[in-house]
Amino acid sequence: MLELLIAIVFEGKEDFMLVSTKEMLLKAQEGHYAVGAFNIENLEFVMAVVKAAKEKHSPVILQTTPGTIRYASLDYFASIVRTAAEYADVPIALHLDHGDGFDRCVQAIRSGYTSIMIDGSHLSFEDNIALTASVTKVAQAIQLPVEAELGKVGGKEDDGPASMGENPYTDPDQAAEFVLRTSCTSLAVGVGTAHGVYKGIPHIEQKILREIRSKIKIPLVLHGTSGVPDDQVKAAIDNGICKVNYATELRQAFTHGFMGYMKSSPSCFDPKKPSSLGMEEIVAVVKSHMDNLGSANKA
Ligand SMILES: [Zn+2]
Repeated sequence: MLELLIAIVFEGKEDFMLVSTKEMLLKAQEGHYAVGAFNIENLEFVMAVVKAAKEKHSPVILQTTPGTIRYASLDYFASIVRTAAEYADVPIALHLDHGDGFDRCVQAIRSGYTSIMIDGSHLSFEDNIALTASVTKVAQAIQLPVEAELGKVGGKEDDGPASMGENPYTDPDQAAEFVLRTSCTSLAVGVGTAHGVYKGIPHIEQKILREIRSKIKIPLVLHGTSGVPDDQVKAAIDNGICKVNYATELRQAFTHGFMGYMKSSPSCFDPKKPSSLGMEEIVAVVKSHMDNLGSANKA
């Protein structure tokens, strides 16, 4: 009787849980592809990104910025994504994007995030090292991977327009010293990309990327990838990128689908209807990126 009850309760639930990004990224590095990290804003974004991953049999990273966490909370997103992972037969990781301090990182770990980023890129080299090392010390104790950032990715995470900083590029020698002194497990690098919407066609400095790759062995992360041509992203993967972040394109896709429905049916007051079209557009964008990143059929 009890067995039957358990069977009914767990029917349809695969035996999958959230995984960490550590093995996911090392596997990508070995296999010369990259895993997409997609910023989620609400329930619909989670459902759409996970649907795309399932259809493409791709590992996937879902991530939230501090701005999104302020909108809902770490616990809300952790619960939604945990539920999504239980029903997905592909590896899913939940990552804190642009962690804005030691406290936020610890809070994310407590909420069940399986990967964190500490962003000290606005600090001096030494202060960035000190902040990052304080987080890796805690994370290492529970074998949680930590992404750090050195150099500047232009623009402003969360919304603002893209703009280029004075010296956005990561110095390869500094990167080597940074990784050695902080023990971070992946590194976001400044190689010409920016957050937000690009005004012209962005240009990734592949030479700098190759130099960084020649000096450090951990997975490299590309931020601000929305709007970067696929061939440039592919070349960056050949040059050592293992995690590629997309946020703006998903926001644009969802809003486009949602608003499109509302324009044609202005009297609609059921949010599920426009949201469904928004989700469809996200699914298409994410699936196309998974093909380009090479993560499709790698789950
Ligand atoms: Zn970023």
